[in-house]
Amino acid sequence: MEQKKTILIVEDEKNIAQVLAYNIKKKGYDCLIAYDGEAGLKMALEEQVDLVLLDIMLPKMNGFEVCENIRYKSQVPVIFLTAREEQKDKILGLETGADDYVTKPFSFPELLLRIEANIRRASGEVVRARKGEDNASRTIKVGELEIDTEHYSIRKGGEELELSKKDYDFILFLAENLGNAYSREELLEKIWGYDDYYGDIRTVDVTVSRIRKKIEKDPAKPEYLMTKRGVGYYLCRR
Ligand code: CA
Repeated sequence: MEQKKTILIVEDEKNIAQVLAYNIKKKGYDCLIAYDGEAGLKMALEEQVDLVLLDIMLPKMNGFEVCENIRYKSQVPVIFLTAREEQKDKILGLETGADDYVTKPFSFPELLLRIEANIRRASGEVVRARKGEDNASRTIKVGELEIDTEHYSIRKGGEELELSKKDYDFILFLAENLGNAYSREELLEKIWGYDDYYGDIRTVDVTVSRIRKKIEKDPAKPEYLMTKRGVGYYLCRR
């Protein structure tokens, strides 16, 4: 039998955390709860966790700091629970390495959809199902970039880049389709796994700017991850 996936909820409002945990468990997941940022970070790194739901305003350490600290050590998917109307929170959250966010008050079915999509993607199922191939290990080279599909890592000029799983999936997808430009909507579907889901296309833009900071010499003048005006993004055939 497949092992149950474990979801960590980091949320200081006990009612919200407990109702969430109750609903998540009903869907067949295990659940851990942390009521402050420090405890959440500790659990995210020390327990076997498959996904983190992370509030922003938390005692002891806020959600952004928790996320940044998780990212130093782990690629576990992180979904921020953001308050309504705070677009800057969403952007900042994605910049600290979160995979996604939902806006409070959110509907549970919507959250569940995000949880499932992010867990599927993190386990590589989306990428593999899409490619219809098994885990054949190989390295894809694009200029100075070397994508190591066995270790899910990317090197530039021989040095390993610090990337989230999402960043990796994003670069891998474009590298496998080198030179082809994809719209934000297509990228949301292919990389985030949101079939029939109306995602926020700004998620794609923020991810692109985060990746550019990591792979480009000058993020303002990209040489790898290019914008095709009126179409979308592509990885340059160098
Ligand atoms: Ca809070």
